[in-house]
Amino acid sequence: MNKHVYRIKTQSPEETVAFGRVFASQLRPNDLIALYGDLAAGKTTFTKGVCEYFNSDQPATSPTFTLINEYAGDLPIFHFDCYRIKHPDEIMMLGFEEYLEKDGIVLVEWPELIQIHIPDDSIELHLTYKNEKTREIEIRTPRRMEI
Ligand code: ADP
Ligand code: MG
Repeated sequence: MNKHVYRIKTQSPEETVAFGRVFASQLRPNDLIALYGDLAAGKTTFTKGVCEYFNSDQPATSPTFTLINEYAGDLPIFHFDCYRIKHPDEIMMLGFEEYLEKDGIVLVEWPELIQIHIPDDSIELHLTYKNEKTREIEIRTPRRMEI
């Protein structure tokens, strides 16, 4: 699928959180945001900003041991961390597909580990570590966005 591509750089965790808030203001129910990037690239930090925008009852922390975290707010947020998944189908046993139809926002860390189940029209963020404080974020989205 053809996607619009945008690139930004953030110079601190606070800037990445702020970007997450602005980005979230353009999201719609049932959007899936696939967060690609190595450990410490800023995936969870970005998610925190999304949670702030939706007044979620819990700030996003790393869900590494729980796989799915659900935060109630103006829209429900379903935060998946696939880091420990060994087979893509494990996520289906947890009802992954149903989460895409609950009128919430779905955020997935380590989507490459369940790539076969990531819809073609997802919003992709590719986060790259540049130096201690700088991250590059490439956004690939099926619709135009204000970045
Ligand atoms: P991930 O979920 O991708 O593993 P985290 O968001 O948990 O990454 O962690 C990112 C780490 O990098 C945090 O310790 C954060 O303080 C630090 N950091 C430094 N600069 C930035 C930045 N510009 N954006 C996001 N995080 C940053
Ligand atoms: Mg994380």
